[in-house]
Amino acid sequence: MSDGPTYGFDTLQIHAGARPDPATGARQTPIYQTTAYVFRDADHAAALFNLQEVGFIYSRLTNPTVAVLQERVATLEGGVGAVCCSSGHAAQIMALFPLMGPGCNVVASTRLYGGTVTQFSQTIKRFGWSATFVDTDDLDAVKAAVDENTRAIFCESIANPGGYVTDIRALADVADAAGIPLIVDNTSATPYLCRPIEHGATLVVHSTTKYLTGNGTVTGGCIVDSGKFDWSANDKFPSLSEPEQAYHGLKFHETFGPLAFTFHGIAIGLRDLGMTMNPQAAHYTLMGIETLSLRMERHIENAQKIAAWLEADDRVEYVTYAGLPSSPYYDRVKSQYKKGAGALFTFAVKGGYDACVKLVNALEIFSHVANLGDTRSLIIHSASTTHRQLSPEQQEAAGAGPGVVRVSIGIEDADDLIADLDQALAKATA
Ligand SMILES: *Cc1c(COP(=O)(O)O)cnc(C)c1O
Repeated sequence: MSDGPTYGFDTLQIHAGARPDPATGARQTPIYQTTAYVFRDADHAAALFNLQEVGFIYSRLTNPTVAVLQERVATLEGGVGAVCCSSGHAAQIMALFPLMGPGCNVVASTRLYGGTVTQFSQTIKRFGWSATFVDTDDLDAVKAAVDENTRAIFCESIANPGGYVTDIRALADVADAAGIPLIVDNTSATPYLCRPIEHGATLVVHSTTKYLTGNGTVTGGCIVDSGKFDWSANDKFPSLSEPEQAYHGLKFHETFGPLAFTFHGIAIGLRDLGMTMNPQAAHYTLMGIETLSLRMERHIENAQKIAAWLEADDRVEYVTYAGLPSSPYYDRVKSQYKKGAGALFTFAVKGGYDACVKLVNALEIFSHVANLGDTRSLIIHSASTTHRQLSPEQQEAAGAGPGVVRVSIGIEDADDLIADLDQALAKATA
């Protein structure tokens, strides 16, 4: 099928990018478990290596199963192209790689996945890059943080772990004025709840490990390009606008236009960094995406019910779910995230750190794991696990203080989940 804008999300999540296998007619996308692809002849091989013809060479760069997933996610996000890679963290490095150079910085939200805070505040320094963290609700602070060496602004749409909701349009305006791209990590919202490109984002990154796969089976990542950014408008992005020595002086933006970032991601990023997604992982993620909207509807319905129940309970101090009228983000959800506020939030247990640890130990249906976006309900005490490497100030800024637990509400029966929380809260606060 052609992926026209006339098709709805539920149709595209099943069909976009896929077609019956040309060799066998197989209706489901085959797992192309192969490392290499036979060239028709020497001229064909040369054309592929020169990027004069698009095709399959070697699975570090491209693979037919992975290619279907790339087209699927790009279509659902409303982008022109996508590059899949081995994890969400790989996607973040792959997104920054063409933009940054030694001495360059990224302005990032303080409210990010704990691993991203560590990656940005520590590890990227090894490349000579740096990050400046700001509260992205304070637009003056964001503007003030952008300097002549800033190459991107980075935020999460629905921010892990607190479930905070970002005003993407406002941040996109700041990025536009500065001539730099806005990168949005859309892992927790998924394109079902939010399509950041429609709100002005240039690039969207995903940990496909989470809701897109949906059942906790494989890690993966994806970078989607809007195709809308003019990489040649200023001299900040030479990797995309200037001659590339490794391809005989080819200029990616001039040659590939709106697909420049995607081609660079494959031809340079995957070729040389090698953070490739394998076809098995792509297969699991394609299976998951087929039911994304159905799962998200149930995730949200359950989260809404459970958050309201927790908020009304005396043993709970507060709940951060942006789908509750008590949340400062409630109005933003109603206007920008019309289908709901996701299924990820934190709540504070009376009794602080000790009560949180007891609660996690006492739960029976909820699994105590460092993951989110699974069909199963999950819980974690962020301060002692995912956000452990952060200072107390960073933990508070991220919404992961010692007295709160984070839940990722699954698609089980909401009444069973509430009963489980009820018995565990009794033990935790006895
Ligand atoms: C999990 C996660 C990541 C990292 O993804 P991995 O697949 O674990 O590498 C990045 N951002 C968010 C919001 C996440 O939830």
